[in-house]
Amino acid sequence: MEQKLNSLLDQAKKHLERIAGDGALEEAKKQFDRIAGDGTLEEAKKQFDRIAGDGTLEEAKKQFDRIAGDGTLDQVKKQLEDFRIQYLGRKGEFSAIMQQLGTIPVEERPRFGQLANRVKAEIEKCFEAKKAALVDSAGGQGPGFVDLSLPGRVPERGRLHPVTQIMAEVCGIFEALGFSVAEGPDVEHDYYNFEALNIPAHHPARDMHDTFYVSESILLRTHTSPMQARIMENQQPPLRVIAPGKVYRCDSDITHTPMFHQVEGFLVDTKVSFADLKGILTVFTQKMFDKDLPLRFRPSFFPFTEPSAEVDIACVMCGGTGCRVCKQTGWLEILGAGMIDPEVFRMVGYDPELYSGFAFGLGIERIAMLKYGINDIRLYYENDLRFLSQF
Ligand SMILES: [Zn+2]
Repeated sequence: MEQKLNSLLDQAKKHLERIAGDGALEEAKKQFDRIAGDGTLEEAKKQFDRIAGDGTLEEAKKQFDRIAGDGTLDQVKKQLEDFRIQYLGRKGEFSAIMQQLGTIPVEERPRFGQLANRVKAEIEKCFEAKKAALVDSAGGQGPGFVDLSLPGRVPERGRLHPVTQIMAEVCGIFEALGFSVAEGPDVEHDYYNFEALNIPAHHPARDMHDTFYVSESILLRTHTSPMQARIMENQQPPLRVIAPGKVYRCDSDITHTPMFHQVEGFLVDTKVSFADLKGILTVFTQKMFDKDLPLRFRPSFFPFTEPSAEVDIACVMCGGTGCRVCKQTGWLEILGAGMIDPEVFRMVGYDPELYSGFAFGLGIERIAMLKYGINDIRLYYENDLRFLSQF
């Protein structure tokens, strides 16, 4: 009996040596190792990323499959499982020996039992060691293991900032209406920002602008309206122009940021009337909000337009019945507009008796807030991808 157990142990050990003894698994492991190069995990991952670098996961998987493609690992796993069943299984050779326990004299049994436990433990230990050496290191979860079948790291796709998207949309609508696009400098002369727009020095309207001054006569433009003066100085009517861009005001709260975006628009021709302004803005709001929203013109004041109006649309949230967004009024202010003041025409040398025109200016962030139902303008500039990736 004792002899049987000892020879079983010998047999089991020799059997384990034979498993994967032809070096096929060694070769497979070497291939893995070559991929993992010097063994550093980072490098291996980079190499894997390079394999999947063109974005085709399928190709990477194929490459991986070719490495283990001869089924070596699967064969080894099966051999190990066969071994476990043959020696350690319920109907295995060890169990068969133990079933003969009854034939041993009672006084011999404790010593035999100890020996049997030791032999079984030894076989199990050798088995686990072999399994760890072969299977776990090659395809299991051992230390330094790199799962080459994982998907590669696909770079995140970029997209346009919501403000950029709305800016493009606004420009697109006006371009379709025959407006051309003009861009001007962010750092502007006091003259174009104020004086040419009928806002002379010490005019109280300057106080509304919270201007960043660079020097006494140079400033960061507080609106895109300077483009009116700049273009009219150099071109003759008829004109249909929009001027999109950044503007700056020393102001920051839930509805104001020190830098924001405006689109200025103006049209100059003979016999331009307020009805033309209303028509253009009606088409714009319909296209912008995909809805036939009523417009409301409230009398207002701008030094460079006369008459001037604040333009409201019916609340995009409640449709005009009143809600928190529109402060129960049913209306949302979207832009300022008016007929270009004759004084502005005089400054650029147009005959105000011959020409008339309208101008309007709208805030892109405000349009985007209304369109998407955003209540804090600062979200646009915090660069939180969880916010930005929704657009
Ligand atoms: Zn509302």
